[in-house]
Amino acid sequence: MAQVEASVARYLAALETADRQEDETARVRTARLEDRLASLARRMEQLHEMEEAVRTAPDGQVSITDPDARAMATSAKDSGIVGYNVQAAVDTEHHLIVAHEVTNIGNDRAQLSGMSERARNAMGHEGLTGLADRGYFAGEEILACERAGITPLVPKPQTSGAKAAGRFGKQDFIYLPEVDEYRCPAGERLTWRCNSVENGMTIRAYWASTCQTCPMKAQCTTGKERRIKRWEHEHVVDAMQRRLDLKPDAMRVRRWTAEHPFGTIKAWMGATHFLTRGLRRVSTEMSLHVLAYNMKRVIAICGIEPLLAALPAR
Ligand code: SF4
Repeated sequence: MAQVEASVARYLAALETADRQEDETARVRTARLEDRLASLARRMEQLHEMEEAVRTAPDGQVSITDPDARAMATSAKDSGIVGYNVQAAVDTEHHLIVAHEVTNIGNDRAQLSGMSERARNAMGHEGLTGLADRGYFAGEEILACERAGITPLVPKPQTSGAKAAGRFGKQDFIYLPEVDEYRCPAGERLTWRCNSVENGMTIRAYWASTCQTCPMKAQCTTGKERRIKRWEHEHVVDAMQRRLDLKPDAMRVRRWTAEHPFGTIKAWMGATHFLTRGLRRVSTEMSLHVLAYNMKRVIAICGIEPLLAALPAR
């Protein structure tokens, strides 16, 4: 809209100049400029309509190429993509895609438990260990996995503002479960003080009474005292961190497992996007890719004869 306004201002100035001249060329130029101004006015009208559509859209997004596509969160700077989010659970032994789903949710934070359960059901196992990258980290999802008998391994994103500012991060405070307290870097005890509810999660707050006289305060907080927050179910996150500490290659295993099918399918597709539009059709297109990948993978692993023998007769 700003660009259209700038163009209108430019054309109006040119129109004024043309008005001051009275020859044939000026008349032709005036007619052309009036045409352009009319088309800019129509463009502005369309943009106002679009602005209204974006304003009233439930998630504040309108995709004009494919109405179901949505802005995807990406870690790379300036790499915004409007498209779909393909979820895939891949088994670490054979690199087969055991469960997949196409969503138009822009991030992976709500996907862990649902995809893990689908993978477990597809594999017919009682339990399952699910490796996922930090984009899947969400306390409620980790808890849901535990409750469903799935063991999640998801690293925690490092988002501590205090640590980034050179002060102690939450990881510098040691939780003592037997007394439900934290011990701070100065050796003081941070006791439970109150609860609050944030995004539907009950959060417990701990602090010490000695911060104001503490010699390490400058390294710790800019406030009156340092407060540490703890989700009421944080023990599941702590237990997961301990499992991750004991399995230092977990993320390498995840990478070489999950990236194998994605790399292969992308190489087959070429440097292109989905050929269909709309969530339902894109899901079908992806299912065909997954089917082709899995068939070729099984053939590579055990050959055609055993595959045919294992397929149910029709
Ligand atoms: S400021 Fe408070 S929490 Fe921080 S190190 Fe000192 S006593 Fe511990």
